Amino acid sequence: MAKKQFKTESKRLLDLMINSVYTNKEIFLRELISNASDALDKLHFKLLTDNSAGAGGALEIRIVPDKEKRTLTIIDNGIGMSRDELEQNLGTIAKSGTLAFRSAMQKKGEGEAENAEADANAPAADELEVIGQFGVGFYSAFMVADKISVLSRAHGSDEANIWESEGLDGYTVSPAEKADGCGTVITLHLKPNGEDERFDRYLETYTLKELIKKYSDYIRYPIKMMVEETRLKEHDHDHDHECDHDHDHADGECDCGHEHEHKEPEYETVTEEQTLNSMVPLWRRNKSELTDEDYNGFYTDKFHDFEAPLAHIHSRTEGGVTYNSILFIPASAPYNYFSKNYKRGLQLYSNGVMIMESCEDLLPEYFGFVKGLVDSSDISLNISREMLQQSRQLRAIASGLKKKIKSELERMLENDREKYEKFFKAFGLSLKYGIYESYGMEAENLKDLLLYKSAKEDKLVTFKEYAARLLENQTEIYYACGESEEMIKSLPQYKYLTEKGYDVLLMTENVDEFMLRMMNGYDGKPFKSITDNDINIQDEDEKKAIEEKQKQHAELLEAVKTALDGKVKEVRLSMRLADSPAALTSDGPLSLEMEKVLSEMPMGGEAKAERILELNPDHPVFEALNKVKDDAEALANYAGILYGQAQLLAGLKLDDPAKFAESLNALMVK
Ligand code: ADP
Repeated sequence: MAKKQFKTESKRLLDLMINSVYTNKEIFLRELISNASDALDKLHFKLLTDNSAGAGGALEIRIVPDKEKRTLTIIDNGIGMSRDELEQNLGTIAKSGTLAFRSAMQKKGEGEAENAEADANAPAADELEVIGQFGVGFYSAFMVADKISVLSRAHGSDEANIWESEGLDGYTVSPAEKADGCGTVITLHLKPNGEDERFDRYLETYTLKELIKKYSDYIRYPIKMMVEETRLKEHDHDHDHECDHDHDHADGECDCGHEHEHKEPEYETVTEEQTLNSMVPLWRRNKSELTDEDYNGFYTDKFHDFEAPLAHIHSRTEGGVTYNSILFIPASAPYNYFSKNYKRGLQLYSNGVMIMESCEDLLPEYFGFVKGLVDSSDISLNISREMLQQSRQLRAIASGLKKKIKSELERMLENDREKYEKFFKAFGLSLKYGIYESYGMEAENLKDLLLYKSAKEDKLVTFKEYAARLLENQTEIYYACGESEEMIKSLPQYKYLTEKGYDVLLMTENVDEFMLRMMNGYDGKPFKSITDNDINIQDEDEKKAIEEKQKQHAELLEAVKTALDGKVKEVRLSMRLADSPAALTSDGPLSLEMEKVLSEMPMGGEAKAERILELNPDHPVFEALNKVKDDAEALANYAGILYGQAQLLAGLKLDDPAKFAESLNALMVK
């Protein structure tokens, strides 16, 4: 029969699997069992909603190793696949995780096109990480098998089909017999053993038991296998004599005073079907019997991450609504976290049955990084999506979860600063957006979770820590915005404030200042940009002195403003410029930093900050300026240069670089 070809993208993935040097090949079993479990879920769900007659037997998964044939077979009596579905599902990449995998690979490919041919058979280290991250499903079986057949019969159909493939050169689908009802039988022909890889270990009872315990213990359906066991033969010596107490002694030794027959221990080999998984969902188990490893394994498996989470929150809540929940805080942001493609939400179970893969309404957007699940018997199995959104129970759960997450983060911040900083590097931005996008409504909730670099301490601090260390007469919280810490540190006002001993919070993210505008200060103390004019640190004498000078030079300042021809709203004197002659600042609701951010946005528009040029009356340059105040041309030149350098210091572009250079040159040849 003619072979059909895999779709190109599937082929690439398949190639990766076949030639994989990934050490963790054993995950293939987890992937196949989880597919089988999904198929059982689908059938279970269908039977529930259809009210149709039940399937043949109880829903289950069976594992059949065959050492002679060197095959491992995974059988489920789930929903099964039709001929078309076999083609579609196994010939093309469909699953979301796999798609994400593909686009991650493509992105990588674009970046590194020149290395692409280096060694096609040896995936790069991060490629391997990606395998682990996404859990690539069915194809992972090609890491251990060189031939795979999938016999399947869809629920409600009498026909069965078999899909077969030996890898890259394609697959066939042909009609087949499957007598025992719907479901799927996947047979893996294991690869020959290699130098350092024994693929036949996947036929050993011990290995299979171990893998199932490790990866699939909580699967809701029994995973059964015929197991051969040697065990001590039971003697019925209890009947040999009459004692009124129990004898547990197999060898007949007993201090009851009766004579017991002495027998050599005898062993027998029994083959029986065993259920290898405990089937109790992790979240229903007692916290005290679970280890970090249990949680981490559950997380990496279920949420396709390769890195253990930073924290888990496992709780049972009773009261208005009763629910179990396990929440995880991942260690890094997924590559698409800050894009529209990121799927936020928690899995929702009704009494152990999953009813929604990702329920967005359970998490506020700013905690969208949290992974996990909620199981509640108060949410009905058949609830529709619309009803769910209206559901009072769901809202109660969501508000409970929000509190749990918040207090877990607070605890981490308090007890494990290093871990919290890792968290904040990954997801801090999400919290900032939480404040900004809620117009400050969430500020109360989130303000103590934010970290900013402190100029004085040279490390990340909270607002609370900043506020606890204010200088004696300090009434404001000082911050400075810029593209980078270096840019901020070159601001004249920064030098002035830090030299006076004030601490300044360094803010380098676009959202920072927008977020501050949505907050009502912290703890009664307003936030003040170090470039603000009305910063409250000058003493009365200083203020008076500057007002005096301002009056004295009013004419000059007005002339500079006129020379700048509408570019600035005001020119004024400032004592806060340290050793710089001039600096730019702003008035009104929009700062220069905010203007920069807005102008970079696609719809940013024309919003402009009102510019104010501040001049340093104690700088020799000011004196020079004063000297040319009657020479209109020279004054215009000087004003242009001062305005230009102030723009550069503020991280802004020059309006007219050629003119700026010309003015400087003119000065140099004078
Ligand atoms: P994923 O399971 O993440 O979607 P896979 O590549 O593992 O990706 O599987 C592709 C699809 O094949 C599944 O989505 C499912 O529709 C189908 N499939 C795989 N295994 C089974 C099975 N045992 N029974 C029914 N359908 C299955």
